[in-house]
Amino acid sequence: MSASHTADYDVIAVGAGFAGISLSYHLREAGFNVKVFDRANDVGGTWAWNKYPGAATDSESYYYCFSFSKEVMQEWSWSKRYSGWEETQNYLKFVMDKFSLWPMFQLSTEVESAEFDNETGLWNVRTQGGETHTAKYFISAMGMISQPVLPNYPGQERFKGPIFHSSRWPEGLDIAGKRVGIIGAGATTVQMLPEVAKTAAQVTVFQRTPNFVLPAMQKDMTPEWEKEIKDNYDEIIAKARNHMFGMAFEQPPGRNAVDTPPEEVQRIFEEHWNGSFRWVFETFDDLLGSAEANQMASDFITSKIKEKVDDPELAELLTPKGYPLFAKRPPLDHGYYETFNRDNVKLVDIKDREPIQEIAETGIQTTENLYEFDVIVLATGFQAYTGALEAIDIRGSDGHTLREKWDDESKSIMGVYAAGYPNFFMITGPQAPFANLPTSIEQNVAYITDCLQKMESEGYDLFQPSPEAEDEWSAHTAEIHEQTLMAQGDKVNSWMMGANLEQRKPRVLVYFGGAHIYYDKLRESADGGFPELSFSKSAA
Ligand code: NAP
Repeated sequence: MSASHTADYDVIAVGAGFAGISLSYHLREAGFNVKVFDRANDVGGTWAWNKYPGAATDSESYYYCFSFSKEVMQEWSWSKRYSGWEETQNYLKFVMDKFSLWPMFQLSTEVESAEFDNETGLWNVRTQGGETHTAKYFISAMGMISQPVLPNYPGQERFKGPIFHSSRWPEGLDIAGKRVGIIGAGATTVQMLPEVAKTAAQVTVFQRTPNFVLPAMQKDMTPEWEKEIKDNYDEIIAKARNHMFGMAFEQPPGRNAVDTPPEEVQRIFEEHWNGSFRWVFETFDDLLGSAEANQMASDFITSKIKEKVDDPELAELLTPKGYPLFAKRPPLDHGYYETFNRDNVKLVDIKDREPIQEIAETGIQTTENLYEFDVIVLATGFQAYTGALEAIDIRGSDGHTLREKWDDESKSIMGVYAAGYPNFFMITGPQAPFANLPTSIEQNVAYITDCLQKMESEGYDLFQPSPEAEDEWSAHTAEIHEQTLMAQGDKVNSWMMGANLEQRKPRVLVYFGGAHIYYDKLRESADGGFPELSFSKSAA
């Protein structure tokens, strides 16, 4: 490799989840010397951290996986429609074993900083343990949703029992017979509550904003279903590649709700109410673009909440109001609403009725009551897209960190490059699509591999992402964003706009032009010789 004879590695990556694993495999196959660090003590990324009861995928397991190895696709068996965290993590370990990837990984190692050195043209990567390593290329494989956001209620340190973010569930914590308080009512709580309520003495959810929760309709994999999947895997993967959210769904049905008679709309909604996000994409084409169609979908979901929750007042509290479906990312339901019918489950409205004042020694103090708990779970979400990248001091050629660069706007080129950061790639960084992540990750990794191969085969030492290309991608992403109902996410603290962060202003973080179109754009860029980059050779 051209300049890397002076570096410890050709590539240093951070993150040992789907992205880091896919990257390590492909780059090693292409002849690169790769090191992957992760602060977790095991591989899995999201699935090494999110081990709360009920944690599972919201994409169906058989396409929430790698497609690069036909052998793995045939050899691995999923046990359910949506796999739990443990099964997904075991799958990733199976891939690690099969391709002998472990030697490239150094776990329990937190990267503290990565600085581009203009003199050497290398990245200096420092770990918390004080080691420094150099590499020609630095790659973030840290995941889109990995940096926790904690609330700042006074008194959190006073609480006598365990209190932790949902993605830091303490190993071995048994909540059987305990009184559990959960702050937050997003996708995590929607998965966690039904499981926790089964054994806890009592569970209370502190809700600020209710969500539109779609049914998951979990089911076991049967031998017949598995055979059908494995016989048609190429087609399934192609469907995911060609879908606007990277999901192996059918193509849009070619009809709009607004042009369909109301009874027929209801019939179609009911007929497709059989689990997953399919309901949004396989019923009508206009649910995310037309306010009127979106209202029909929202009303249908609301009618289902009222059917499932026995107490009408509670059903009303759980009903989203004042924002369209998808302004917040809708969670999938594994019995969430029905769980509120149990005697040991309570909902507290902390928006309009009794805001939280503080965390007390024995529980949560609202303006009205002191709720006593043995355990408090902070299911308060994540700093999506930028959080993990800003938590490390990543400094580009002008010495600025990404945190500084993104203070006002989180611009990128296709979520892969950041202007000012040479020889640096992000896998699903800001302004990439929000999609079935393994699909997007594989597209990003193929693209990055192509770029590195060009660099090496043509003898380049450096690429610089063009600021003009960054402005162009950002403007394009913002323009599309404005045309969707997702742009209303700032009204409801949507992480898709970074609107869940108190100290930052909302911003455009997601490319909503369609994941399939985005994948085409990556391909066009690679085929066109990466016009977003300027390449150079060192004088030596
Ligand atoms: P989230 O959707 O952002 O929900 C966070 C919850 O915490 C919201 O109800 C929020 O209320 C509340 N909250 C935040 N700060 C608060 C505060 N200071 N006081 C009171 N409440 C507060 O986070 P999440 O549930 O962890 O899910 C995040 C994303 O992770 C999901 O949308 C999804 O993409 C991903 N995820 C995926 C899966 C899966 O695919 N299987 C599972 C879980 C999560 P407001 O809404 O009012 O801000």
